[in-house]
Amino acid sequence: MQVRVLGCSGGIRGGRHTTSFLVDDDCLIDAGSGVMRLGLEELARIDHVFVTHSHLDHILSLPPLLDSVAGLRDKPITLYGTPETLAILRGHIFNWLIWPDFSRIPSPDHPFLRYQTIRVAEPIRLGDREITPIPASHTVPAVGYLLRGPESSLLFSGDTDSHPALWEWAAMGDVTDLIIETSFTDDLCQLAALSKHYCPKDLVTDLERLRKEVRVWITHLKPGREEAILGEINGPGLEPVARALQEDQVFVL
Ligand SMILES: [Zn+2]
Ligand SMILES: [Zn+2]
Repeated sequence: MQVRVLGCSGGIRGGRHTTSFLVDDDCLIDAGSGVMRLGLEELARIDHVFVTHSHLDHILSLPPLLDSVAGLRDKPITLYGTPETLAILRGHIFNWLIWPDFSRIPSPDHPFLRYQTIRVAEPIRLGDREITPIPASHTVPAVGYLLRGPESSLLFSGDTDSHPALWEWAAMGDVTDLIIETSFTDDLCQLAALSKHYCPKDLVTDLERLRKEVRVWITHLKPGREEAILGEINGPGLEPVARALQEDQVFVL
């Protein structure tokens, strides 16, 4: 199981894209602007899209993706989300006003898009790959994902603030890598609390509680604040606690 980072920024700027990970060549975790880096043949191979939540920076490539590959595929793309998230996307995006309802065209029996409900702690198995929604806490219903391959597991927080249930999953034995968001610097902790994102001091508190050797990769850094946020997480010590996740970084699980 290979996971490639297509986008991991908390905003847009030249060369940086919003959240999306490509799992092998057929599966996306979130569909932010990072998806737009793929060529048409790569886009057409995507069969599965798992979303963490409905916010635009995590789904904005999904409508044009469906439109671009519809004529190139003979089976639907499956969109996986919690019931709450799928209801938001159906009601506010694929509603014929913002974008067509691709689950009804070209016909309801053979649509371009299929919805699949997922629930926290219930794994979806795709061959020897296992993708499990895990708890997160955000301003809209949200999950993270535990990606488990034959060798190891990676935990992705999605967008969240401090949430003890998430860290119970991080403590599991085979988790070697954590991709966890930190969106703001500590001077903006109040804004982080209002928008339910991490700021460095809250993340450091949770990492200290974890008491486990694990690689920590920070995602969703706000453009222009990347180094300041990392500096606050790592402090003046010798060994960095956490590193910034990079576009095109690859994990083999
Ligand atoms: Zn969000
Ligand atoms: Zn976000």
